[in-house]
Amino acid sequence: MMQALQKTTAAFGLELREVPVPHAPANGEVIVEVAAAGICGSDVHIYDWSGGYDFLKSAFPVTIGHEFSGRVLEVGHGVDMLRMGQPVVVIPSVECGVCEACRAGRMDACRDRRGIGMLRDGGFARTVRVPAANCLTLPEGIDLGVAALGEPLSIAMSAVKTAEVAAGDRVLVMGPGTIGQGIALLSSVRGANVVVVGYDDEDRLKTVRALGIEQTFDLRMHDLAEVKALTDINEFDIVIEATGVPATVQTGLDCLRPSGVFVICGIHGNPVSFDAAKLVRNRHQIRGTYRATRATWSEVRDFVVGHEARLAPMVTHRLPLANAIEGFEMARRKIGSKILLMP
Ligand SMILES: [Zn+2]
Ligand SMILES: [Zn+2]
Repeated sequence: MMQALQKTTAAFGLELREVPVPHAPANGEVIVEVAAAGICGSDVHIYDWSGGYDFLKSAFPVTIGHEFSGRVLEVGHGVDMLRMGQPVVVIPSVECGVCEACRAGRMDACRDRRGIGMLRDGGFARTVRVPAANCLTLPEGIDLGVAALGEPLSIAMSAVKTAEVAAGDRVLVMGPGTIGQGIALLSSVRGANVVVVGYDDEDRLKTVRALGIEQTFDLRMHDLAEVKALTDINEFDIVIEATGVPATVQTGLDCLRPSGVFVICGIHGNPVSFDAAKLVRNRHQIRGTYRATRATWSEVRDFVVGHEARLAPMVTHRLPLANAIEGFEMARRKIGSKILLMP
């Protein structure tokens, strides 16, 4: 038996339960011993049960946790690319293998995915069973806590690619959470002039500065007019929204130069309204971005391996699995930045 952090009922809370250790892996699968698993904003929503995750009910009881890294503990038949003890980061989205897109080899377009840590057991447990194809190998000696940032960084990298951030672009990132931090760092590595704003979010803005991005502002203290004056940037070439707060869309569009690109990355619980006439006259482009493709994931793995030390400040807390609820309460109150559970 082992401890696992599970969602068991459609109500507030999560339960640390004793569950059977996963059985011998099937064909093409492996058992991963989890080293580190990050608490994500969506995990906090699942904990709160504040709406939007009804689709999980069919999987109850389910172990959550979709941002994790670890070591291969056991390999099933037909797995030849992974050996025991191999450090890996796990792509938490499993394709169905039978839909039209999957059969045509276009796995990125699969219509029936099952998320690890959503619809099947995830990483808030000592071990987890996953398809071998979802494991990206890491070099020996890497900090597996930093490697657990792979999933949010994959979302951030997709956003930066969708926005087509280039050297010299003036980029406004709205929302200093892990994904916003990743967007800011990746944009800055591409040579952009990056400004990050948050609201009542001092801890996470501090993390942004620790990543080497100096222009950060808490909108509780400064309004956007002040931000423009202080940064000497009157309008941005690109605005990327990673908050999920509907009002940020109009606010962000108002900061954009004519023909500028606005990327929506946040998950919005409510419909968003904006001034379409203004959008038309300014020829503004709104783009959506979401889960990363396999190709982007490979780039993320290489980025994590190449920038381990630079990424390290994003992880502010590492707690044992037994303290999971404490970690969730901290995440809810925006204390620190990425909080990892170390099963
Ligand atoms: Zn996540
Ligand atoms: Zn499919």
